[in-house]
Amino acid sequence: YVPLTESDPEVQNIIDNETWRQYTTLGLTASENLTSLATLQASSSILNSRYSEGTPGDRFYGGMKHIDEMEILCQKRALAAFDLDPNVWGVNVQPYSGSTANFAALTAILQPQDRLMGLKLSDGGHITHGHQISATRKLNFSSVYFESRPFTSHPDTGTVDYVNLASRAEEFKPHLIMCGASAYPRDWDYALIRAVANSVDAWVMGDIAHLGGFIAANELNDPFQYCDIVTATTHKSLRGPRGGLIFFRKNHPKALDLEKRINEAVSPICQNGPHNNTIAAIATSLKQVCQPEWKAYAKQVLCNAQVLAEALKGYGYKLLTDGTDTHLIIWDLRPQGLKGSKLQALGDIVGFNLNMTLVPGETAARSPSGVRLGTCLLTTRNMKESDIRTVARFLHRAVELSLRLQEEAGSKLLKDFKRVATDPNGRNYGEVQKLSQ
Ligand code: PLP
Repeated sequence: YVPLTESDPEVQNIIDNETWRQYTTLGLTASENLTSLATLQASSSILNSRYSEGTPGDRFYGGMKHIDEMEILCQKRALAAFDLDPNVWGVNVQPYSGSTANFAALTAILQPQDRLMGLKLSDGGHITHGHQISATRKLNFSSVYFESRPFTSHPDTGTVDYVNLASRAEEFKPHLIMCGASAYPRDWDYALIRAVANSVDAWVMGDIAHLGGFIAANELNDPFQYCDIVTATTHKSLRGPRGGLIFFRKNHPKALDLEKRINEAVSPICQNGPHNNTIAAIATSLKQVCQPEWKAYAKQVLCNAQVLAEALKGYGYKLLTDGTDTHLIIWDLRPQGLKGSKLQALGDIVGFNLNMTLVPGETAARSPSGVRLGTCLLTTRNMKESDIRTVARFLHRAVELSLRLQEEAGSKLLKDFKRVATDPNGRNYGEVQKLSQ
């Protein structure tokens, strides 16, 4: 083996630059985290070489002893992380990502053209929850292959409008209701959604892509009490490699063969060979989730989000739902007349990783008025309340600067910023600091 530094310095150089960028940037993207060295090592291990279609003990290849051991270990840890009884719940750890986990889960229990409901994209929902722009512009498998109708948040409060959900469900008669979101800062009332679903005989699927780490720590409502199927990503609050999980109820009264259906939907229907190196890395990261220290981490992420929300409100900013229950904040910049896309672009120059987002009622995904903030990554970097207040102050300064640049369109200051932004080595923060004064 020749190491990367020698065999491909060009690739190594890009990795080095991105490493430097990540470590000198305040990572506030709500869907991101920093994973441990152990997880990175497992992820780049020799398990990458193996094909292993099938499930442990039932494969299409020889030499599966250790691959089987690894997948079984990963399954055990996934169930343990969420304190699930293996007699009641099973899990498939093979999905390549959250999107394919959702695709496989929907494929397992719905027929093409069946009806599903999920939270509208602009209200915080995820594209895999039935996103479509119009009847002819369907932008995800979940609207291309199924008939979808969203439920919405309440226009006054920004929280999920459960009355709207119930009345739309009565009218639309969905086969499945999704609970979960990508840009929604509040916890979910799974019991209520279960009751609505029961009234129309629908499945309930929880997507805890964002919330998994806190649910595992018992810090948020428990979807497993009420959902038939729960999907998760492994790389957000769970702090693992990029991947997906599907939890399902064994011996489900609606489908006694749910385990078989889920496993077949993952492979061969939606995927082929499992990424065994990723499964090893998921197992490693779930070991961390099973440790007593995990609860302290999850609590600190949530506490940091509260502190960030309060600090931003203190500067006079508007937040969707006026705060958060989770790691995530939707910062509505409409009152400032600033686009989230502009602040995101400035963040790239001054050292924030930001992520623009739609606010309710908007459709222009490339120039929305919101910014989605999250505290998982900064908490992994050991930031506490006082650090977060400093981050809030920096964010406030970044908004002031963006507004100034907006007012002074064509000014020397703006040109200087653009020059720094396009600097090929991208390491000009000293100069940026001077410009920001
Ligand atoms: N579900 C939700 C709620 C998400 O926020 C995401 C991530 O964006 C996904 C699913 C999809 O995950 P992935 O990007 O791993 O496909």
